[in-house]
Amino acid sequence: MAVTDHVDLNQFMEGVKKRNPHQPEFVQAVQEVAQDIFEFMEDKEEYHAQQILRRIAEPDRVVSFRVCWEDDAGNVRVQRGWRVQNNNAIGPYKGGIRFHSSVNESVLKFLAFEQTFKNALTGLPMGGGKGGSNFNPKGKSVREIMRFCQSFMTELYRHIGPDVDVPAGDIGVGGREIGYMFGQYKRITNHWNGVLTGKGLEYGGSLIRPEATGYGAVYFLENMFKTKDENLEGKTAVISGSGNVATHAAEKLVQLGGKVLTLSDSGGFIHDPDGIDQDKIDWVKKHKTYRRGRIEDYVTEYPNATFHEGKTPWGVPCDMALPCATQNELLGDDAKTLVKNGCRAVSEGANMPTDLEGVHIFKDAKILYAPGKASNAGGVSVSGLEMSQNSERRSWKEDELQQMLKDIMAGIHDRCTRYGDQGDGYIDYVKGANIAGFKKVADAMLAFGVV
Ligand code: NDP
Repeated sequence: MAVTDHVDLNQFMEGVKKRNPHQPEFVQAVQEVAQDIFEFMEDKEEYHAQQILRRIAEPDRVVSFRVCWEDDAGNVRVQRGWRVQNNNAIGPYKGGIRFHSSVNESVLKFLAFEQTFKNALTGLPMGGGKGGSNFNPKGKSVREIMRFCQSFMTELYRHIGPDVDVPAGDIGVGGREIGYMFGQYKRITNHWNGVLTGKGLEYGGSLIRPEATGYGAVYFLENMFKTKDENLEGKTAVISGSGNVATHAAEKLVQLGGKVLTLSDSGGFIHDPDGIDQDKIDWVKKHKTYRRGRIEDYVTEYPNATFHEGKTPWGVPCDMALPCATQNELLGDDAKTLVKNGCRAVSEGANMPTDLEGVHIFKDAKILYAPGKASNAGGVSVSGLEMSQNSERRSWKEDELQQMLKDIMAGIHDRCTRYGDQGDGYIDYVKGANIAGFKKVADAMLAFGVV
């Protein structure tokens, strides 16, 4: 094949599927990006000739390892751990660590791929990575979690570093787990450096990091409504999840005058027609995070609410929806229901919560739809600011960080608009995010030659 010949989208995707058998989440993530990028690359021969998208869709490396630990009963347990280092063209690899029974190589490759675009969109110098384990923290004692985290880090430490790869938390990995991993890293290497983000404030963490993803998703929503000269005051919201992202998104929405109707977990969702106010959010945070409780207990505490076992909240009529639990939790039929019920905006707190069919439904309906790689980038942005603070050996104040987060989310919105504005009043945020993220990484890769 001559250098300037290039494959079309279908041939490209056939190749991705062939090279990544049994990895549906990864293929889905690449497909979603590739359709926009192929359109963008049509008259840009160099990206084709240098196989830039093909290279971004092939992780720099995937490290897979055994994690052994002993449970409280003295049994030896064996889990699998991974770190996917997708691309470090614009900065050290950066992305969370997920502990969940559903974790596998496909899920982590999709997340690391998405992270590459998301991190580029923030405007900060961070590459894309993701890691985790199929370890299920549910039902484990604190000591068991500590031993697992230590064992996980005993292998991971060789592959990370403040200028190499800087992991953070994700599902199942919060401040406590980061603390255990950071302690083990320090013990093994004898180095104190900003190798992880999401750390406690006492040892190098940043203010507003726990809040940043949820708050950022709401700031993005606010930016989208601004294009229609509207704000969030009095608008109703349906939120899924009841973890870090969901509860902080709820909190910011309430602060900005919105009314939150639902939260959920893997057992089902609660619907509170009175609205989930700050006191109720505080109760959920305590109940889910510290007591490791179930969302269904909410209805005992607040009897006006109802619990819907095994269901997702997308059937509840609302002005805005924020999927903040996990991937593929909002399917085509859910998207149809939301649109039919008058939902006008969707801001994804989770990564790839909407499946491809759902994305097309939102786009066809021309509602305000923000993909996670744009709307949930607040978390990694404040992680980037945590890295800067660690390098400078200083801590910024809360109001400074709040302002920086707001500015970063507005910057992401602008970048999406630049490439996603369709000229008829509709902004295709998916397209905008894909192209803006791709272009930055791609141009850096062009500068490096074939590496
Ligand atoms: P948490 O572990 O704090 O919370 C996850 C929530 O999602 C829990 O309520 C959990 O319920 C629910 N959940 C998990 N799996 C499922 C499922 N299969 N079906 C229904 N509900 C489910 O995680 P985070 O809030 O940190 O993360 C949520 C999402 O946001 C993820 O997609 C993550 O990748 C993404 N994200 C997180 C960032 C962060 O800063 N934390 C940054 C950017 C993205 P249960 O308690 O029953 O498991």
